[in-house]
Amino acid sequence: MNHQVLAQLLLHLDGRSYKAYQEIRGRYQFPDFELAVDHVQGDPFAAPSRLRVLLPQTVAAFPVQTYQTRSREIALRDYLTRQFSQAAASMHETSDSSYRGSGHSGLIAIAPTGQQVLERTAVFVTSEQVEARFVVGLPARGRQILGRAAATLLCDDLPQIVEQALKYISLDATDLQRHIEMVEDADWLRQQLPAKGLVAFIPNGAVLPRHSGISDQPLAIAFDGSAKPQPEILTELQTETSPIVAIPFQSPATLQIEFDRPNQGSIKGMGIPTGITLIVGGGYHGKSTLLRAIALGIYNHIPSDGREQVVSHPTATKIRAEDGRSVTGVDISPFISHLPQGRSTKHFSTENASGSTSQASNVMEALEAGATVLLIDEDTSATNFMIRDRRMQALIAKAQEPITPLIDKIRQLYQDCGISTVLVMGGSGDYFDVANTILAMTDYRPQAVTAQAKAIAAQYATARIPEGGTQFGTLTPRVPLALSLGSHGSPAKLKVRAVNELILGTEIVDLAAIEQLVEAGQVRAIGAAIAYLERHYLNGTTPLSTILTHIESDIATAGIDILTPYPQGDLVRFRALDLAAAFNRLRSLSVKKPETFSNVKPTSTKR
Ligand code: ADP
Ligand code: MG
Repeated sequence: MNHQVLAQLLLHLDGRSYKAYQEIRGRYQFPDFELAVDHVQGDPFAAPSRLRVLLPQTVAAFPVQTYQTRSREIALRDYLTRQFSQAAASMHETSDSSYRGSGHSGLIAIAPTGQQVLERTAVFVTSEQVEARFVVGLPARGRQILGRAAATLLCDDLPQIVEQALKYISLDATDLQRHIEMVEDADWLRQQLPAKGLVAFIPNGAVLPRHSGISDQPLAIAFDGSAKPQPEILTELQTETSPIVAIPFQSPATLQIEFDRPNQGSIKGMGIPTGITLIVGGGYHGKSTLLRAIALGIYNHIPSDGREQVVSHPTATKIRAEDGRSVTGVDISPFISHLPQGRSTKHFSTENASGSTSQASNVMEALEAGATVLLIDEDTSATNFMIRDRRMQALIAKAQEPITPLIDKIRQLYQDCGISTVLVMGGSGDYFDVANTILAMTDYRPQAVTAQAKAIAAQYATARIPEGGTQFGTLTPRVPLALSLGSHGSPAKLKVRAVNELILGTEIVDLAAIEQLVEAGQVRAIGAAIAYLERHYLNGTTPLSTILTHIESDIATAGIDILTPYPQGDLVRFRALDLAAAFNRLRSLSVKKPETFSNVKPTSTKR
């Protein structure tokens, strides 16, 4: 149908009850694009209506080089999502206020974005077309349709947004090129890490600290660097007597490495080698900030973020203590054995884990889901999981202590399983003995102090008795059984209010401890993935790690859309590791008892 038909229809609906909006479902041809009205909200306060714009490349005219590689495609899609969002926001500000009626009236919005460049279902680009998925709050006063406002919104405002945001000719080509090249270079850098024996790279000049504990924007910098402070931050700082400014990152000479990036050429910075890396230093000297930047180095960042060329191994996983979490059938025996009351630690379950058992479970689950690099911060760790010093060994016999602390397993973990660890530990020098690389943060600058720390370790021997044995211990795969989600797993029962909370039917899953989730859309996609894996792979015979591989490959082949029954614009790509983390926190999870494993032949059931 023609767009004029839509305008007429909307005018015709003016004053009628909100339900009549259902009549506009369908597809409309505008001069430049096609508009698909996929879902119409039931009332002005309900979740807004879902629409799509399909713009042929003959009109959008993006040069092939802006999307020809996977990196570029994701960068371009991210860029267009941001452009759409900006255009829609400024439209909302400048447009006639008459259609700001009840509820979401007058809203046009696309998936929200932060500092990370992620693959989202908000925008797609192919050689054929550009597709944008967004929501619209169809205008109403009370429950009465504001038809004229709706016609303005869809037939005047929307085409303007499309014009401004989705056509190559309207965009700042230099800015777009920078976005694309930055992302492609970051992907390239990340790919170089294994061959160089590195787990992370932090370039000189990077700005790691954030504006505040509740803002992911960069802290302003004092002089010229790669981070562009936001204007509002600058004004705020100028009013302060002693402005807080970020100290740009600078690698110690011995750990410095240089790369020659495909787009932007030479870059120098600190390479963190595989093995065991210890970050020490006084309180408030930037240790946790560095570790946080490494944890988020699994993602690419927008230019001006300050961390746009900080990269880490894609499976790097932040591990923390998380008392109170539920744990289901995890073999934590490498770290914890002979619990009081003879409770099994080879198949450990609890509704209410302690600091140490939760942290041990988090490690074992991460290994099961494919982590090869662990990131651990003393700030968020259980002390008794981390250390047990000589004096404590003397007072409390090993037989009376279920916990084998990480210090006694961290080397075995690397030697037996190839797992590297980056550890922030300013409070105990016992780790000097087991670390391969030791960094001291002083005034936000890392110094390489490995030799010095090793000399100190020799001079002041701790006389600790190693209690971890020569081997790391067993990794026992788990076979999850059917969930009791049932229809609760259907998309209608899936709610995501924030990045740290997933509601599946009646179950509220607390994701606050999964620190590498950054957008609510990832949590929404993870919720959909749990329902999807329940439908397709939870057969009581397939191990969790195999299930994760299946899901990864399904998404790689068919896209994130495969997780939901109809195309949604609010899903964001997540890692299998973080899906596993959410899955493992379901209180309704049950797994097969390990004794039966040997008899079971894992079979995969394809859809
Ligand atoms: P630590 O873990 O060593 O105690 P944090 O990483 O928590 O220290 O950092 C302490 C404070 O210093 C935080 O407010 C952080 O934002 C700030 N900060 C961290 N790195 C820098 C830097 N490079 N420049 C300026 N401030 C920084
Ligand atoms: Mg800290």
